[in-house]
Amino acid sequence: MTEVSGEDLSNRLATRAVHAGKIADPLAGAVMTPIYQTSTYVQEGLGRHKGYEYARTRNPTREALERNVAALEGGRHGFAFGSGLGALDAVMKLLSAGDHVVCGENVYGGTHRQMTHIWARLGLAFTFVDTADPQRIVDAVTPATRMIFVETPTNPLMRLCDLAATGAIARRAQALFVVDNTFATPCFQRPIEHGADVVLHSTTKYLNGHSDMVGGLLVVQRGDLAERIGFIQNASGAVPGPFDCWLALRGTKTLALRMRQHDASGRRIAQWLEAHPRVERVYYPGLPSHPQHALACRQMSGFGGMVSLELGTLERARRFVERTKIFALAESLGGVESLVGHPASMTHASVPREMREAMGLTDSLVRLSIGIEDVEDLIADLDQALA
Ligand SMILES: *Cc1c(COP(=O)(O)O)cnc(C)c1O
Repeated sequence: MTEVSGEDLSNRLATRAVHAGKIADPLAGAVMTPIYQTSTYVQEGLGRHKGYEYARTRNPTREALERNVAALEGGRHGFAFGSGLGALDAVMKLLSAGDHVVCGENVYGGTHRQMTHIWARLGLAFTFVDTADPQRIVDAVTPATRMIFVETPTNPLMRLCDLAATGAIARRAQALFVVDNTFATPCFQRPIEHGADVVLHSTTKYLNGHSDMVGGLLVVQRGDLAERIGFIQNASGAVPGPFDCWLALRGTKTLALRMRQHDASGRRIAQWLEAHPRVERVYYPGLPSHPQHALACRQMSGFGGMVSLELGTLERARRFVERTKIFALAESLGGVESLVGHPASMTHASVPREMREAMGLTDSLVRLSIGIEDVEDLIADLDQALA
């Protein structure tokens, strides 16, 4: 179990991003946390060691990452996993057969798939609701509800969930409140401040930010939850290797800087797309036309680089994604490079068609992950692809 120090929490976000969680290197005084590429540690005698016995349980590079992200989220304990879905797997193991979960209906496709294909088979029950409306969450809570799981903004429709209101509902229901903060990142939204018990990240996305590793992370505040998740992390064993932890740690150092650019370009491109005659609708919480713009301004300090657009027909969507030159057609998001995706056939293909259509995730919807390239070049690329 990795605990954040008071010193890690004393600075503002951009400073925490660079420094929080660093470990001292007694051998050479390395400024950057070394990659502890080892599976085990020498013990001085029976039961006498430096606290490190075996690397599934503890690894100094992993601990530096866990402390760093926990400090960014304003939490006390961090737990790294081999992927975002590995982190989800661990958080679901806090529950037992018979427990009920209220979950957002347009959460990440892989989250929906794990819940419905694995956890439902093992005895958990789920109700998927539109978490943009707190009343729908209240209505879905049953005496068996032990967890409320939300993503905000959602992927790819950018619907928001009122974190403070949902936190209050979870407390009344005595249910764990879990928030997937992958899209907003702690730069723009800190769910723990709004009552979240667990914050989940796919570090694969903005936290690492360079599209060169896959990882997940959980952050919690409460000691009892930290004990249980630490046990699950070690007992289930879905831990990341030290090199991937080091890459993610290298990524988080520039998080504040990168997010500023993703946000500035995201706002600019969303506005430009909204004024374009070939674009039927733009989904971006930073646009005044977004139905929850006021909530976005209340609980987020920036809106990031994820923008979705409605092009009207599958044929137009296909032409668009095949014609962009800087925006590469690929799954994933949150890297320095711009990507374009078609949620219905890519990230959300595992969500049943009826459910996709009911929530407005059409075959003609395209999702952009705006990178940190020059925004004029990005706009020119989108312009030629729409022509
Ligand atoms: C990618 C993603 C996940 C899953 O993370 P992996 O690292 O791919 O396992 C979960 N939630 C959101 C919002 C994501 O974008």
